[in-house]
Amino acid sequence: MVLAQLGGSISRAIQQMSNATIIDEKVLNECLNEITRALLQSDVQFKLVRDMQTNIKKIVNLDDLAAGHNKRKIIQQAIFNELCKMLDPGKPSFTPKKGKTSVVMFVGLQGSGKTTTCTKYAYYHQKKGWKPALVCADTFRAGAFDQLKQNATKAKIPFYGSYMESDPVKIAEEGVERFKKENCDLIIVDTSGRHKQEAALFEEMRQVSEATKPDLVIFVMDSSIGQAAFDQAQAFKQSVAVGAVIVTKMDGHAKGGGALSAVAATKSPVIFIGTGEHMDEFEVFDVKPFVSRLLGMGDWSGFMDKIHEVVPMDQQPELLQKLSEGNFTLRIMYEQFQNILKMGPIGQVFSMLPGFSSELMPKGREKESQAKIKRYMTMMDSMTNEELDSSNPKLINESRMMRIARGSGRHIREVMEMMEEYKRLAKIWSKMKGLKIPKKGEMSALSRNMNA
Ligand code: GDP
Repeated sequence: MVLAQLGGSISRAIQQMSNATIIDEKVLNECLNEITRALLQSDVQFKLVRDMQTNIKKIVNLDDLAAGHNKRKIIQQAIFNELCKMLDPGKPSFTPKKGKTSVVMFVGLQGSGKTTTCTKYAYYHQKKGWKPALVCADTFRAGAFDQLKQNATKAKIPFYGSYMESDPVKIAEEGVERFKKENCDLIIVDTSGRHKQEAALFEEMRQVSEATKPDLVIFVMDSSIGQAAFDQAQAFKQSVAVGAVIVTKMDGHAKGGGALSAVAATKSPVIFIGTGEHMDEFEVFDVKPFVSRLLGMGDWSGFMDKIHEVVPMDQQPELLQKLSEGNFTLRIMYEQFQNILKMGPIGQVFSMLPGFSSELMPKGREKESQAKIKRYMTMMDSMTNEELDSSNPKLINESRMMRIARGSGRHIREVMEMMEEYKRLAKIWSKMKGLKIPKKGEMSALSRNMNA
């Protein structure tokens, strides 16, 4: 995933700086230059990057940092704050309320992913107990209704549209009326797109908006446009009352960072990002957890949400218990590998953790990653119960490694590599020691504590 590459470059730069014995101006500059390069490659506007660099240098006055202070932590925090500032439009969007009818209208250019995103948005809310419905008011693109119908049927979401009617305003009005009567609490209206911004598109949007009186207008844009997102978002905002933005295709384009920061500069809140073609490749966009994840600090609130969302209720206590103990044994690693290979729910949960996703299973290299995981599992099959249940990596000394290598037909070097991976994952896991099982509504407090 391209964003993971940006995150990887930034966290590597911080890591390299941490490895230096003394952090002086030269080391700090090298780190900042590395981060600058990564952000520019993501098409983030030069001025934003330069300001960020200047601000960090202002905050981190190396001479003032007393010897006892943890310079790395202070610098990391400054980078974190600056990236948050860059991506935070400082304005929350309207949030629909469950049980109370809201109309949400989607606008955007053709091909931006608007229709796909409508269904993702509906599906996301349906999983959280909403009663969504989809209205296809896109009469411009042939096949738009079929596409929406197909997606909606797959997700078992009611839909409305017409093959005969060519007036989008009429369809939108009828659809919204009908679903209001059916007590749907989230009525989503998909409108037409065009290849480029033009008067006809904006006029049609205005008419549909007048007829349906949406509580929220969401502008969908493709991340591949990078910095140009600024102009596009501005143009749409000036024509309709855009209340929120969803940036799509964050999985495939190197310009994602640029698009996100450009949207933030228009003071429009990004509420979700699309990270793939599938229905559930859709993530809530919340600046702080997003940047935490980018910096490899882990997205704890997303992680906990995911546990509640995808792990069956009866398995949650056991998993949370293991997490709270913080002891990561090789057996737990084995079980998690099994889950990842099955791509079962827990596999999805662990993909939220920095170490489990970007490095162990980089997107686009799934085959290699799977082969690696299988290799590790074969080696673990040659371990004794004592070895699997210990959380002390020192137990597995050289002679044990040799035995494991022989037993599994692998080279000792590979066993050593697996043990390194184990230590790395154990470190991430240990951060969750003392985890309190949160009740509803306590997620954000927990994420604050864990990011501190
Ligand atoms: P519309 O013309 O704006 O309604 O766009 P569509 O919803 O038809 O999407 C255009 C193409 O983009 C389709 O092939 C989608 O599968 C694809 N797409 C949409 N969102 C994403 C995303 O987040 N990631 C990726 N990789 N593809 C996406």
